[in-house]
Parts: sequence; structure tokens; C-alpha cells
Amino acid sequence: MRMISEKDFEKNEEDRRKAVDTLLKLSKQKHDPDAWRRLKEILYPSRKLDVDVIIDDTTLREGLQMAGLTTPAPEDLAEIGRLLYEIGVERIEVMTYTPTDKDAIRMMIDNGLGGMLAGWSRAAKQDIDEILKLDLKQIGISHPVSYYHFAKWPDEHVCNLVSRVVETVEYAVDHGLKVFVHGEDSTRADWDFERKFVNAIAEAGAEVYRICDTVGVGCSLQDHPLPNGIPAKIRSIKKETKIKSLEIHAHDDLGNAVENTMAAIRTASGLYEKFYVSTTFLGIGERSGNAETEKIILNLYIHHGLYKWNLSLLRETANFIATALNYHLPTNKAIVGDSAFAHESGIHLQGIRIAPAIYEVFPPELVGQTRKIIIGRRTGKHGIVLKLRELVNQDVDEDDPRLKKLVELVRSSLLQVDRKYYLTEEEFKKLASEAGFRV
Ligand SMILES: [Zn+2]
Repeated sequence: MRMISEKDFEKNEEDRRKAVDTLLKLSKQKHDPDAWRRLKEILYPSRKLDVDVIIDDTTLREGLQMAGLTTPAPEDLAEIGRLLYEIGVERIEVMTYTPTDKDAIRMMIDNGLGGMLAGWSRAAKQDIDEILKLDLKQIGISHPVSYYHFAKWPDEHVCNLVSRVVETVEYAVDHGLKVFVHGEDSTRADWDFERKFVNAIAEAGAEVYRICDTVGVGCSLQDHPLPNGIPAKIRSIKKETKIKSLEIHAHDDLGNAVENTMAAIRTASGLYEKFYVSTTFLGIGERSGNAETEKIILNLYIHHGLYKWNLSLLRETANFIATALNYHLPTNKAIVGDSAFAHESGIHLQGIRIAPAIYEVFPPELVGQTRKIIIGRRTGKHGIVLKLRELVNQDVDEDDPRLKKLVELVRSSLLQVDRKYYLTEEEFKKLASEAGFRV
């Protein structure tokens, strides 16, 4: 074996000491926003974007289309709208067809959200009329752009399909609406056709074209070819069409919705002044759903230093939506799930006890979460010390004989053959009291 000499690592050792010092100083057990901000800048040097990213949340349109969810009351829909507004999303897409949709829209307008609501419609004048009756100011007109979807109209010439969309766009623009056009199945569309389509709707007055990755087949690689390559699509649209702004709407069928959305934003940086991002809270949507609003916001916060959204409401909003729609929020859901900041195994708890940032990407309080210490089969002394601190606000000395006793008591109750689950708080408190702690 080659000798590893201290000399080769002198500089690393010096840096290691500095890094640990910084970590211990800035990663706090109790959230300290200033310390966190300084730590964040050290741990995650961000790269600024040269584009205004606008979150266009579609939980109240796409999210509600997810199969098997219950339809919430209009009051609940309006409350979701209010939470999204408080978080600071800039646009909210809504469904406009049922009496519940309409009641919810009226409530949101009464709450002052009218300017940020966008109705969703087909390329049909009667849909536009309905949206005008609701007094909305923005509209998204959806139409397929891939030949495969044109199988729905086997006898129609493509020219007629484009004319239908153009006419509807002109009608909406003439009635004072700000118009988005959603190119359904854009990531499987023939580029020559899509280019003509985008130019036609831009000439008709549409301001934004939405690239819909309808079946989630988009690819984030910079040099991936059209039609699946999302960066290539954004560059081609910039180069060969007249549309003012773009939007990405990514589905998660291959698990790439967040990555594809981020790739789209990064490609748009420097090319476009504004870039819209269509996302849903918790990623709810058709089939496997969409890019999660909360994940995009956190990616932009961590990697690109965008601080314009109120992160502290993310957990509350997730819980509200899950309850209102009867959606089972997966326990390991990033950012907002129950176990996103839960720790049980000894090695992890040791890290958390030294400095939470060892195992937490950001402090739970930042997104309205709390750290959870779970006392289970893989928990040792460190976890028990943390749990005592959490439950009874007591700091315990390593050599305290009560601690030794409590570790034994916890172990013997969890290692019973038929015991499969962790200790409840009540059980832990009982054992702590048996060991001599005042709880
Ligand atoms: Zn969709």
C-alpha cells in the first residue's frame, strides 16, 4: 500500500477545521434565519438567472383533474387560492365549467385575486364567452399540436385546425383578454408544423405559448433533438417564431417533471425576459401528475437565489390541499411530507445532534415544518438525548446514570420479538419517568 502522508493533506485538514467551525456556528438546533442565510450561501453558492420566473400554479385546474380525488367545496377551492396568493405565486389557473368552479372563482374575485386568475378553455368561442361572463382577465386556450392527437379529428385538414385556434385567439384578444395558448403534446409534435402554429397564434395576439409535455416524455439534455428535447424546443421557438413569452408544463410519467421544468427555466435564462412555469402543488394532476410547485420554488431558492416566494406556508398549504381533496400525502414527499425532516437511525441522529445541516438540506422551519425525532429500533443514545430535549426541554449529560438506564429501557421494549413499530411519545415519556427523568 502507498503511504498516505499527512503532508499531502495539510491544506485539506486546515479547510476541514474551518468548515466544521462554520457548520457548528451556523447550523442551529433552533432555527435562526440569519445564521441559515449565511450557511446557505456557503453550502449552496447560487447561480443567478437572467430571466423573470413566474409561477403559474394549476392546482385548481390540472390538479383537480387527477383521477380519484374528491371535489372540494367552493370555499375550500377559494382557500387554496388564498394560500397560493400568500405564497406569492403570480398566476392561478382555474377550471371554469361546473357550478363549484364558478362559485370558487367568484369567491376568489371577492378576495381580490381576480387579476391573477386565468381561465382554461378549449379552442371554442362558447368557452371564451363563459370566461368573459366570469369577469376573468386572462385565458389559456388549449389545443393539441402533435399529429398523434389529431387522430381525434381524422377528417379535418390541419389548416382548419390551426384556423380554429387562430379565430378563437383573435376573439379572446378582441374581448380584452390576455391570451396564452397551450400546445398540447408539444414534445411529440412535428417541428415544422409547430413552428407555423406558434407563429399563427402569435400573429393573432397570443402573448405566451405553453410547451405542454403532455405525456412526460420531454428530455432535459441540452443537445437532445426535437421534438422531445426541451432545451432545443425553447431555443428553436426563440429563433424561428415571433411569440413574446414561453411557458413549460411538464408531466411526471417518467419522473422527470421537475428536472424538465428546471432545464426549461435554465435554457430560457438570457433568452426571454419572462418565463412562465406551470406547476401543481404536490404534483397532483392527470395520471402521475406534474412538476410540484413547492419543489420548483425550493430549487429556485437553493440553486438560483430567488427569494420572492413565502416558503413558510408550504407545509400548511400541502396539508390543506391533501385534506380538501382527500389526497394521501406520501410520508416521504420532499419538502412537505411527514418524514421529510424525521430521523430515526442512530448515525443520522448523531449528525443531527452535532449540527442539523449534516442531514438536512435546509431547516424544517423554513417551509413550516418541524424536525421529528423518532425513537425506534435503530435509535441509540444520541436520539434519546435529542428526544429528551424535544419533549422535556432537558439537556442531559452523557454520563448521567438516568440516561444509561433509559437507553436500556428503550432497547428492551423495542427489541421485544413482536414489536414492529417505533415508540409513541407517551411510551417514551413513561420510560423516561421510570429512568428518573421528570416528564
Ligand atoms: Zn397537463
